[in-house]
Amino acid sequence: MALSPLRLACGQVVKGVRVSVDAVSAPVVLVVEDELPLRDAVCRHLVGHGFEVIEAGTVAEGLAAVWERQPDVVLLDVLLPDGSGYDLCAKLRPITSAAIIYLTALGQDVAVVRGLDAGGDDYISKPFNFDVLTARINSQLRRTAAPRSARIDLPPLHLDFLTGRVTLEGREVRLTKMELQLLGYFAANIGVGFTQDELLISVWQAKSAAPTNTVRQTVSSLRRKLGLDEASAFELEYSASKRYVFRQVRFDPSSR
Ligand code: CA
Repeated sequence: MALSPLRLACGQVVKGVRVSVDAVSAPVVLVVEDELPLRDAVCRHLVGHGFEVIEAGTVAEGLAAVWERQPDVVLLDVLLPDGSGYDLCAKLRPITSAAIIYLTALGQDVAVVRGLDAGGDDYISKPFNFDVLTARINSQLRRTAAPRSARIDLPPLHLDFLTGRVTLEGREVRLTKMELQLLGYFAANIGVGFTQDELLISVWQAKSAAPTNTVRQTVSSLRRKLGLDEASAFELEYSASKRYVFRQVRFDPSSR
């Protein structure tokens, strides 16, 4: 039996969004979890601890909630009815600086690594102690109160989003704004494959995917400007599954 949000002792429901009574400046936590009893319990606990809480049960609802509400923290279940939490995380990373904490099942160590690679900040294994959950959320909130890094360093590749300066193996690479954003997205999600449509929506902020050469052309110009060839430390390939993947293929500990 699903618990009704209306049964919350100290919360109220506004247009389907559960908020605490004194939610004026409370940190906003989005809980993406399809297991209703667990989601209800987590929400009730967080509301009781002064957080404003939004709920989602699917990847699609989670994405929409982030667009609409820009939460401070996202609690993200890994297995969702319409996709994985990692896929959602990869979609969220370019549109939010919210801290992303995975709610994983026990023994998913490999999955945890994948999740953190996809841009997650922390994880907590189910079943978890609710006070530990609150402590983890507060720890992320303290961390994200400081501005997030505007740099990505994947030696020998360095991106500075404030100045727009990109260097690869010590050589400066001049990129257009969109090339820099696309490279930044790939660099933040290294090893993760994205379809053209996913890139259009996540990087170009397209409302829907339409037939276009934009992604192909930008990828091709990135490859050319970065001089990606067999000797490069990175590759940007279009896989047989029609996904673009940026990978580091050579690691040189002495590289800058
Ligand atoms: Ca689940």
